[in-house]
Formats: sequence, structure tokens, C-alpha cells
Amino acid sequence: MSSLSIIDQRGEVADVAARLGNLIDPERIVTDSGVLDRYSHDAWPVAVVQDQLGIHENRPDIVVRVTSTEDVINALAVARETRTPLTARGLGSSVTGQALPTKGGIVLDLALLVGEPSFDEMNMTVTASAGMRGSDLEEWLNYRGYTLNFFPQSLIRSSIGGWIATRATGQLSSKYGGIEAAVLSYDVVLSDGSAFEVGQKPRAAVGPDLRQLFLGSEGMFGIVTKLTLKIYPLVAASISEAWIIPTVPAGVKTMREIYQAGLRPSLMRFYDETESQHAVPNAQLEGCALFLTHDGLRSVAEAEHEESRKIVEKHGGRSIGAEPVLAWYGRRFDFSTVEKLLAEPGGYAETIEVAHLWTGILPLYEKLVAALTPLADEVLGHFSHVYTQGASLYVILLGRARDNAEAAERLDEIWRVAMETTTAAGGELSHHHGAGLARQAYIPENLGGQHLLIRRLKDALDPAGILNPGHLGL
Ligand SMILES: Cc1cc2nc3c(=O)[nH]c(=O)nc-3n(C[C@H](O)[C@H](O)[C@H](O)COP(=O)(O)OP(=O)(O)OC[C@H]3O[C@@H](n4cnc5c(N)ncnc54)[C@H](O)[C@@H]3O)c2cc1C
Repeated sequence: MSSLSIIDQRGEVADVAARLGNLIDPERIVTDSGVLDRYSHDAWPVAVVQDQLGIHENRPDIVVRVTSTEDVINALAVARETRTPLTARGLGSSVTGQALPTKGGIVLDLALLVGEPSFDEMNMTVTASAGMRGSDLEEWLNYRGYTLNFFPQSLIRSSIGGWIATRATGQLSSKYGGIEAAVLSYDVVLSDGSAFEVGQKPRAAVGPDLRQLFLGSEGMFGIVTKLTLKIYPLVAASISEAWIIPTVPAGVKTMREIYQAGLRPSLMRFYDETESQHAVPNAQLEGCALFLTHDGLRSVAEAEHEESRKIVEKHGGRSIGAEPVLAWYGRRFDFSTVEKLLAEPGGYAETIEVAHLWTGILPLYEKLVAALTPLADEVLGHFSHVYTQGASLYVILLGRARDNAEAAERLDEIWRVAMETTTAAGGELSHHHGAGLARQAYIPENLGGQHLLIRRLKDALDPAGILNPGHLGL
């Protein structure tokens, strides 16, 4: 029994569902238990393995499929009146259990909150509803000669509202930035039903930049219903090259020097020796692969590529041509290695991304790989998403246990070791996948004093505590 939800008993579920049905099309209010089971999982490997074990711990009582802002306001009104927890869900691609309700209640499914986007060529923006699939919006723009330049690996399985709520980033972030750089404004509904736009045109100095407030709020502060994102013309030129660099420290130094020299490759990914074997398959490389793309106006891209080449060669880099990078573009949204392994009995896989300053990123890599190696058959690492002050580190773990129960234990242990090692090394617990339930236990210690701000913001924005309770370390 949860302390918040009043709808643990069948009669009360029926009452809340009936109240919702008075305000929202009853066809879109679902209490079928098979469907509810599906909403107790997302793409978090721990949840996937739980599903295989028949465990549905984080199961909602009701799913409401909203199609308008009015539906969102009405669902919130019922949740408020009945003190029922309400968890927003985009397309459920979170790999950390962000959209999983810890106290039952309502899941607000936003996948049908879509419609024809509109765009503004003079100001170079596009406005679309929060439930829209990222790849649908990208296609819509490509047809008109534009792009978002925002490519999370989950482009085809995530919603644009989800990008805001998770503080997502994309594969070309080293040049075009994360969602914090991509969003101009958005519409939000608070749990008390008030609805408004949060944004700047294009910058303002009256108070703090409130656009940051809901980025990464994981459905706990309000529901995002519409977004205005920045757009770019489709690139005129794109120059890619792959290099082999002898060691991990030399590669990390190369990335840092390229970025700190003011060069802005759109793609900059550097793989350790183990992941290089996957990144450049069948090549039997000795060393570590670095993938670079410079794009934009041809003369500028060529000049930047030439300057990057000098830095790479200074650190012992040897070109292996464009092909490995172009092949990577061809499979960049593919997640089948992880999915296939998770589908095997006893198979397990995790992806854990963290971040640190340049002074800390290499020691963090060494500590994490050493601590995680005993817990999987393979531990792969790469560095991407580069900044002047640091970078993100992405670790992939692949393994086979005796059965799913042992796989579940192994995954729990992986999260514990990864999060404790990162906190001890002074790193950030997540660069872009977000907190979710995966990181829940480790957040207060890692955030230290600043966690109080999350608590205060939550209390101020959602005083009844109905939005996605039990997340962000609260
Ligand atoms: C194969 C794969 C690759 C991935 N690659 C990347 C990557 O490259 N970069 C990256 O950043 N992430 C990546 N992810 C993680 C995930 O896709 C992103 O976090 C994405 O932004 C989630 O969007 P979603 O619509 O699926 O949200 P969901 O998973 O449905 O929800 C995520 C969280 O956002 C909240 N939420 C969703 N929509 C709203 C809304 N409109 N208003 C308020 N709260 C909302 C939910 O309550 C929940 O807390 C990947 C995931 C997979 C499976």
C-alpha cells in the first residue's frame, strides 16, 4: 500500500477512472491489467529483466492517453482532488526507469499529444506538441530543408517532450549542444492546473533563465505540452575521418586539445581499446579509434578538419579513412546488441554514462573499468559529448548469468558499484540518461547541499506531491 495513493483498492480505482471519464474520452482511460503491466517497464535493463521475471512492482492503476492540453489539465485536476500520484510518460525509452510510477496511480501517456508542427523560417524555430516522436519531427523538417541537429541514439523511440524532461543530448552535441541549447521555449502545466509558456526571445536578464527549471525534472515539476526548438539548414558539407590513437590517455588529450583550440567537430567519439574492436569491426586494430566529423560551410569544415588533423597526428594518430565513421552513421540508432542480449535467458547489459572535468575524467575511467570488470564478460568505454572543461564517459557492460534472477542481481550490483565509484571520484552521476530509479539511492550524496534545492523546488511547484513521486532522490 502506498501512503499517497488512495486508489489501491478496486473500488477507488473505479472512482478515479469514473471521474477521469467525466472529463476525458473514456476510450482513452485504460485499466486493463495486461496493459498496466506494460507500463510498469521501460527500456531500463533492470525493468526489462524484471518483466521477464514477471515482476511488476512499478505498476500504475490507470493509464490516461491524452490528446490535448485540456486533457492534461483535466487529468491533473482529478489527480489533485483524489490525491492520486500521476506520472507522465512520453514514449517510454528511458534507460533508467524515469517514467515508472513508484506509488501506482495514473500514468499520463503523452504519445498521442501530437499534431502538425509549425515553423518560423525567419527566426529559425519549429513548434510541435510534446508527444511527437523525434524522428517524425526531424523528417518533417528535412522535407523543408532544415534539421534539428539533435540526434539522441533514441531519436526514433523518444518524444520531444521527453527530451526536455530528461535533459537529453544528441550525438552531435559537441557542436550543437544538448537540449539546453536546442530549446527556445516550451509550454508547461503545473500540478495545480496553471498553464503557461517558459522561454526567452532570444535572451533575457529579468530573473534567472527559467527554461532550465524543467530540463531534467523527470515529470516531477510539471507536464510539458508544447516546445519551440531551434532549427538549422541542412548542412552543406560534412567531412569525416577515423583515426587510430595508441592509448586512452593520448586520445583523451587529443579531444581536449581539439576542443580547447576552439574547433567544433559535430561528432567527436573516442573509443577505448575494447570498444574500438566493436566500433571498427573486423579490423583487428591495435590502439583506440577516434571518430571526427566537421560540418557546415565547406571551406570552414575543411579548415577545421585540417586543424584537427594536426592535433591528432601530434598525438600519434594514424588515419584509417572516412569509412568507419560513415558505417557508424549507418547504424547509429541501432541498439540491438543490448536488446538481443537482454532477450536471452540470463543475458544482461547496461549502459552507464557519467561526466567529469578533464582533470577527473581519465582517473574516473580507470576506476570505473577496474571496479566493473569483475561484474561483466565485457566492459567497453568511450568518451563523447565534449566541452571546454570536460567530457562524458559512456560504459557498456555485456554479460551472461546462469538465469534471469542472477542477471537481476548482477545489474543491481553494477549500478551500486558504478554510482559509488563515480561519487567517490567526484564525478557527475549522469551526463544525459538521467536519474530515474537506477540512480535514485545515490543522488542525495552525490548532489550534496544542492539536493535541498530540488526538494524546495518540488515543494513549491507541486505542493501536493502528486507528480512522479519517489524520483530525483526524494
Ligand atoms: C536505445 C536508446 C538510446 C538512447 N540514447 C540516448 C541519447 O543518445 N541521449 C539521451 O539523452 N538519451 C538517450 N536515451 C534515453 C531516452 O531515450 C531519453 O531520455 C529520452 O529523452 C526519453 O524520452 P521519452 O519520450 O521516451 O520519455 P519517457 O521515457 O517516456 O520518460 C522519461 C521521463 O520524462 C518524463 N516525461 C516524458 N515526457 C514528459 C512531458 N511531456 N512532460 C513532463 N515530463 C515528461 C517522464 O515522467 C519520465 O520521468 C536512449 C534510450 C534508448 C532506449
